[in-house]
Amino acid sequence: MKIFKEISLLREFLNDVKTGRKTIGLVPTMGALHKGHLALATASKTENSITVCSIFVNPTQFNNPADLLKYPRTLERDTKMLEEVHCDVLFSPEVTEMYPANSMLKLDFGPLDKVMEGAFRPGHFSGVGQVVSKLFNIIQPDRAYFGQKDWQQFAIIKRLVKELSFPVEVKSIPTLREQNGLALSSRNLRLSEEQHRDASVFFTALDAAKKMILQKHSFPKIKSEVKAIVERIPGIKLEYFEIADSENLTLLENVESSKRPIMCIAGYVGEIRLIDNMFID
Ligand code: AMP
Repeated sequence: MKIFKEISLLREFLNDVKTGRKTIGLVPTMGALHKGHLALATASKTENSITVCSIFVNPTQFNNPADLLKYPRTLERDTKMLEEVHCDVLFSPEVTEMYPANSMLKLDFGPLDKVMEGAFRPGHFSGVGQVVSKLFNIIQPDRAYFGQKDWQQFAIIKRLVKELSFPVEVKSIPTLREQNGLALSSRNLRLSEEQHRDASVFFTALDAAKKMILQKHSFPKIKSEVKAIVERIPGIKLEYFEIADSENLTLLENVESSKRPIMCIAGYVGEIRLIDNMFID
């Protein structure tokens, strides 16, 4: 696996790749890799000649400085994991390489970033849109791979690609979970053993909500049941539970008003914030 920290050297390498009519798949990550990330890399490997994985803890998408500081960084281990799945290129730039000057650009995704993650993490999607745009410009991938776990992010990136005419096909890969249902996440590294066990309650609550939707219970009743399930466990707090249209992210009052509704949940296990989601179909 080739490792680049400098944009210019990576561009030089990829230019040669491009002239050979090879396709490039990009897997953007913030590192602290797990099997979910590797599933994205594997999907890219099957569909492209070259897979580039980026590891960059992007400061402009963190609205909470403590969260940025405590974000797990395990580059050496990540490198080994990527080598094991035969990733071709790792791009792991320093912050000064990506943002040599103080960043001023702000992106606004209208109604898409005013709900759920966007409402609770102001500025988050501006930073995500910025770093993904930079990666698309630097790497010029044919395809880019994202996880369903961050569904709102995926919906926003699809919009970004459309509005800025990036010649990139964006793909969503299903969420990988532990046996108890807990979605794999880099932030799980910060959970104690007990918290790790308890955190599966977000999946349990989504599953219960899905059953209630299929049984045609009212949304207010489903929402209060979800809160009760999650907060039954000491140390766990629900931040939001919403049912949204999976394309335009409009929050729904009934599932009939959407072609493909998705349930999204966020909450805290101690001080660690986790998110998850589930389609109803
Ligand atoms: P992150 O490093 O958390 O920014 O995630 C990088 C990419 O991996 C994003 O597209 C995530 O949606 C995706 N991802 C994170 N967790 C999972 C998971 N459990 N299963 C599949 N993809 C995931």
